[in-house]
Amino acid sequence: MRGGRHVAAVTDASFDLAAGECLALVGESGCGKSVLASALLGLLPGNAETAGSAVVDGIDVLAADERTLARTVRGRRIGLVPQSPAAHLTPVRTVRAQLEETLRALTGTRRKELAAATEAAAARAAFPPGHLDAYLHELSGGLAQRAATAMALIGDAPLLLADEPTTGLDRDLVDRTVDELRRHADDGRALLMITHDLAAAERIADRVAVMYAGRIVELADATGLFGRPGPRHPYTRGLLDALPERDFTPVPGLPPALDALPAGCAFAPRCPRTTDACGTAPFLTAGLACHHPVTPVETRHA
Ligand code: SF4
Repeated sequence: MRGGRHVAAVTDASFDLAAGECLALVGESGCGKSVLASALLGLLPGNAETAGSAVVDGIDVLAADERTLARTVRGRRIGLVPQSPAAHLTPVRTVRAQLEETLRALTGTRRKELAAATEAAAARAAFPPGHLDAYLHELSGGLAQRAATAMALIGDAPLLLADEPTTGLDRDLVDRTVDELRRHADDGRALLMITHDLAAAERIADRVAVMYAGRIVELADATGLFGRPGPRHPYTRGLLDALPERDFTPVPGLPPALDALPAGCAFAPRCPRTTDACGTAPFLTAGLACHHPVTPVETRHA
């Protein structure tokens, strides 16, 4: 960054994701979730440095050049369901025009087949054919989301990346949107859903990766994390306790700035379990990065 500043936006993130599986990547705003998504799509800013690998369907997307990313990754190996369809779709063109353009670019559909292919693409995301000639401002939030999902599905990408797909939607619409996404995972795609909405993650995910200050601090089966035995990392427990349907008690304090991370565990200033040992950063081992994890008994009594 300017002035020689370094921002450790994502550190030591490691996970795999199988076809038909949904992994929810959760954490507060600014924890690095969306940077990770940008890295997978090759959309990091020019001054970003990466190390390691991210293999999607046989291609290391961190090592791939722009031509490879444009021709074989974006849309074809990774379909993006965007955070805000309003910002993602073009307001001056109809949904039909945008679906047609995507079909031509990703599948080479010929002109005389476009009309049928467009209706088929819309149908895959349950977008009603009667609204295909609508502009974005004429669509409800739910229909705009379906239009964006229809575009994301066109290239038959094995990985769907949904970046905060429920932001700004009311709870009913959140449930419908994540149920739709789940259906696409059940059809055999891998689904990586980036969200700060734990209720949405609980509804849809097979596994959950919890991120804090650029690191994955807990990676667990969703059933165990949201039910029994419960979360093991104090931060995950704090996030769950903050839910209105649970204790409705926020995690005290704020996350650290990513350009000024503390030397040891980054959660230490907010953690009720801190000891001297936490002056050394814990590494993710067996799905957990914490020196003093919460035990199932404590979770039950909480
Ligand atoms: S390592 Fe220490 S400070 Fe960090 S979350 Fe665990 S107990 Fe808390």
